Amino acid sequence: MVGQNVDIVLHIAQWLQRHRQQLVHMRRHLAKHPEISGTEWRTAAYIRGILASAGIKSEYLNQRENGVICELGSGEPLIAWRADIDGLPGADPREVPYRSRNPQARHSCGHDIHTAIGIGIALALSEIELPGRIRFIFQPSEETSTPYTPRHKGGDGPLLQGGIQAVLSGAMREVQLVFSLHTRPGLPAGNVALNAGVFNGYNAFYQIELFGPGGHTAQPRSTFNLTEALAKIAHQFPDRLSRRMPGRHLVIAHGQMQVSAAPDNPASAANAIPGYGLISGNIRHLEPDLSGTDVEKLFFEEGQTLVFDTVKGRTPWEARPPGTEHVGVCLSLRQGAIQVVNSPIATQLVRQGAATAIGVEHCLVSTPSMGGEDVGALHEQASHGGAQFWLGTGGSMNLHQPEIDFDEDALAVGVKVGAHTLHAALRTDLRPREITPPTEQQALSQAQKQERRLFLPITALADYEPAGGVTYMPQS
Ligand SMILES: [Zn+2]
Repeated sequence: MVGQNVDIVLHIAQWLQRHRQQLVHMRRHLAKHPEISGTEWRTAAYIRGILASAGIKSEYLNQRENGVICELGSGEPLIAWRADIDGLPGADPREVPYRSRNPQARHSCGHDIHTAIGIGIALALSEIELPGRIRFIFQPSEETSTPYTPRHKGGDGPLLQGGIQAVLSGAMREVQLVFSLHTRPGLPAGNVALNAGVFNGYNAFYQIELFGPGGHTAQPRSTFNLTEALAKIAHQFPDRLSRRMPGRHLVIAHGQMQVSAAPDNPASAANAIPGYGLISGNIRHLEPDLSGTDVEKLFFEEGQTLVFDTVKGRTPWEARPPGTEHVGVCLSLRQGAIQVVNSPIATQLVRQGAATAIGVEHCLVSTPSMGGEDVGALHEQASHGGAQFWLGTGGSMNLHQPEIDFDEDALAVGVKVGAHTLHAALRTDLRPREITPPTEQQALSQAQKQERRLFLPITALADYEPAGGVTYMPQS
């Protein structure tokens, strides 16, 4: 252990000289053994094993044992570093020695890079005396919400984002600032980028479902013509909803559209009017003043109006389940990630850390991204906020593209910028400020899907004509 007066720049440079290969080795091990959200058990055990071999005590982040937490140093202030550790579903198509051995998972968002860098920073800083405390949070379930029930209780229970799970497990208690990074294709290795304010967007998932009696395409007006109604709604909904939302930094896009005989019956035919239709997609925005509650209110208001306009005009609807005489509509919305907002002081500290680590000319200013990241929940719980920054990893593919790979030179850059940022944060005078953590009940109600169901008698449809059957002409 070296004392507080150690030249941190020299120490990190020497540590990297000695451990560059270890960083690559760790990243490749993680790339070979990815695990999808909610099942990061081997990943968590691997992280704990490496920390233990360097004499760093760690604990599981939660009862499910798929995340890790550890601390270095003592006293105040308390600064956190967060790394997300989960992979994405699907096989790894790359022809590389570190191709995923798990046919069900691959690290196409670079969380293998994030995890290796998090471990690297912990190992490097564990060798020196720190003027405060650093908490490392190796967080599961960034990609998808998962159950957070204990491992032995299986997979039932409510689904929550990993960021919220970390907050509920107490990982952010007393934390003053939190930092993290994310791989950035297109930005060459050796560079980082960030901006103060909104860094990553808000997102919500919507669903519009239509239920009808179905029928024959020979007589579309004697039933509810579901395909026609679904197409009209699909076409008009994004435009109409976006007109009601203030600001320009907004996208509403459908990701799925399908029709079938019934929700649990995938059958469909060219000569049958389907009985079930679904549109689902995302609402994303970067507007600082548009809350989740606003989005919810506008979605249901506009969704309901559009359905009224499209399906039938404004005859009062009956609150009755859909059946052969009824058309049903179900609108639902589930809040996804809240915005990631970089606080001015945390942003400044990353710039300071990056200037020391790689030179101020390699710390660029980014524009906010529409992508979602659950680290926003951690930023909210740090008394002076947090900052995430982009770590240049080169290449031209998009994150989540199966063939994407990452420039491993970025590993050392991430460790250097991270370590210097944390060290600068420990030396900052931060006034104490109280933050009230959410209760489990609040977290769960936020994550729950909100639903509105509407029903109307099919006889009220504007273009409905009772089926008359065959008309017989009198013989002349
Ligand atoms: Zn990611």
